Amino acid sequence: MNLILLGAPGAGKGTQADAIRDAFSIPAISTGNLLREDIKLGTPAGLKAKDYMDAGQLVPDDIVVDVLKERIVQDDCKKGFILDGFPRSIPQAEALEKMGVNIDKVISIEVDDDEIIRRIAGRRTCSACGASYHVTDNPPKHENICDRCGSRLTVRDDDTVETIKSRLEVYHKQTEPLKSFYESEGKLIIVFGQKDVKDTTRLTLKALEG
Ligand code: ADP
Ligand code: ZN
Repeated sequence: MNLILLGAPGAGKGTQADAIRDAFSIPAISTGNLLREDIKLGTPAGLKAKDYMDAGQLVPDDIVVDVLKERIVQDDCKKGFILDGFPRSIPQAEALEKMGVNIDKVISIEVDDDEIIRRIAGRRTCSACGASYHVTDNPPKHENICDRCGSRLTVRDDDTVETIKSRLEVYHKQTEPLKSFYESEGKLIIVFGQKDVKDTTRLTLKALEG
């Protein structure tokens, strides 16, 4: 089963991807996390990606597509995977088709822009495993410590009020058209983001069962 999670930055794609991963035992692949990992390691892809990410712009397709290709050929992807943050534009969706990846379902998590801005301001991210938290809505069990791996939580370089505005603009212009793209293939499922993360998870898992 190959799935795609769509949604604005901060809509909760990563959190839902992790919930699906746990429920279906398939890996959750976040291109944002892969790119941040490359930046940390100082790889050529990471060096090229950093300025785009800090500005809230999309990283050029050739870089992201290569990073994704390398990930999905790994053994743990044989039974399927969840893509979080890819594709982010129609050309990327076409690249995915060219790779021979068949997508079963696409879940779009809908959250208003005002709420997105509030959420990003309180977001904390584990720099080791990429898990994401919110200071009030989804706090870790121990302050500033990742529940999953025990590492310190940080504020991402691009989680600033200025950058989030460009990221939302990019989302509406370049990523949102993917909803009609996948709707026309009969694959789109809309999930409305709820106040409580657990409620969104319940809706997401239910959508996948049906
Ligand atoms: P969010 O969904 O919260 O914006 P991500 O971690 O998915 O966070 O993405 C962070 C940044 O990484 C994006 O703003 C963009 O610069 C880059 N990025 C991630 N995935 C892609 C992609 N598929 N295409 C282009 N850029 C990407
Ligand atoms: Zn962690």
